Amino acid sequence: MPKKLKIMMVASECVPYAKSGGLADVVGALPAALQKIGHEVIVVMPKYRSIDADKFAIKPALSPMGVWMGDTEEWCAVHSTTTSEGVRVYFIEADKYFDRDGLYHDADFNDFLDNPRRFAFLSKSALQLCIDIGFKPDIVHAHDWQTALAPAYLKVWHWDDLILGDAASFLTIHNIGYQGVYDAEHYEYIGLQWGNFTSDKLEDHGKVNYLKGGIQYADMVNTVSPTYSQETRTPEMAHGMAPYLNDKGGNYVGILNGVDYSQWSPELDPLIPANYSRDDLAGKKTCKRELQRRFYLLEDERVPLIGVISRLAHQKGLDLLSGAIERILEKMYVQFVLLGSGDKDLERYFAHLPVRYPGRAGSIIGYNNEVAHWIEAGADMFLMPSRYEPCGLNQIYSLKYGTLPVVRATGGLDDTVEQYDETSGGGTGFKFFEASAHSIYYTVGWAVSAYYDRREHWNQMVQRAMGERFSWDDSAIEYEKAYRRAIKNKRTL
Ligand code: ADP
Repeated sequence: MPKKLKIMMVASECVPYAKSGGLADVVGALPAALQKIGHEVIVVMPKYRSIDADKFAIKPALSPMGVWMGDTEEWCAVHSTTTSEGVRVYFIEADKYFDRDGLYHDADFNDFLDNPRRFAFLSKSALQLCIDIGFKPDIVHAHDWQTALAPAYLKVWHWDDLILGDAASFLTIHNIGYQGVYDAEHYEYIGLQWGNFTSDKLEDHGKVNYLKGGIQYADMVNTVSPTYSQETRTPEMAHGMAPYLNDKGGNYVGILNGVDYSQWSPELDPLIPANYSRDDLAGKKTCKRELQRRFYLLEDERVPLIGVISRLAHQKGLDLLSGAIERILEKMYVQFVLLGSGDKDLERYFAHLPVRYPGRAGSIIGYNNEVAHWIEAGADMFLMPSRYEPCGLNQIYSLKYGTLPVVRATGGLDDTVEQYDETSGGGTGFKFFEASAHSIYYTVGWAVSAYYDRREHWNQMVQRAMGERFSWDDSAIEYEKAYRRAIKNKRTL
């Protein structure tokens, strides 16, 4: 029997406590899946103001805890809870860093100026926590730039530590577009010694690059889909990180995210107007009608309803959609709903669309989990025109809800959606390749024509899509393999 592993996962988000995107879903689900196959996982994250301690039975665990940042010792407290699946979650309470509204930015989307300090502190304090509670991890697993310094701290400061000295480090890149690049003035606080401020480690054109540091120091790096792991080895897609990722060779891999089907499946979902299944789709019609009502659309069962749930960011290609959606609404008999927030110009554009197409277009600008579930259940197709997509969760949810995805063939979108075959009715969705308004227009047109004119194909695809499974159980096995490789690397490299 291979040894069961002890894993400390440090992240800036984790469902259900704090979430801004897919990262939180992963950190919320992977630990439980790993524990199911016998490993022991603890999660460490910030105690943000928005986290309701009573609701989650979060209790004080340790106080005070001293954390050395460079030459300065800073103090914090630690709280903890145990999830219903038995995962222990620790919250770092440091009011000056985390007791404010917002995770990374203020209400106007201005990044907090002390983000480099906030997340360096989180990374360092997670390691300190292991020491203080006597948790001796085999793996320290960091996620994205926010905690990418943990592998660096581990190697620079804890290599001979009794508790941490044997731990191998692992970094998951959820999105290479966000790297945490900051002025060198922060380097002193970070406290990773100026000797490591070099171009082969943490320095990047005179600044400090957290993600680059993580890539360089981690014993193993992964990203969240096989296709994205290939794309990020190319200069066009890697935002400057291609050489370092290529240098990792086989120590940089793609592991597809799973999905938390306890939250996202039409049979069980408590948030949607009616439940349904592959065998009985009646509830989906109710969901569609209620969705139409909620977005003030014409209540018509026959008209195909296109849904979008997205951050309104360049990555997601919604500026391309803004160049196509009016033509779609004018030329095709369809309805359209969007839920999202982010870029102010796009917010204005999509907020105004229903005024111009009353009864046919609807939008909610904001973040609303219930509405997200309603769209997954009530729409007929789900549109994701991403420029790049490391894994993407919404298209996987939409498969499960029988809401056929229309996606750009990139990253995880390409790995999870199977192209429609017009001759056989095969496939689970509709893929296009060029990132353009033109491609969106024609591919939506292709899907709409299948909806109206090849109904057996559509129904077959819905059945096939709903039967797809991207489970955390499978991903956890892949992570275990990668962890073991990280441990081997740590010992031999
Ligand atoms: P990313 O992490 O790049 O934002 P993903 O598709 O991987 O994209 O994950 C997005 C997650 O965030 C999904 O769970 C989705 O439902 C949720 N989400 C995104 N925008 C919103 C919103 N405006 N309201 C509610 N949920 C949202």
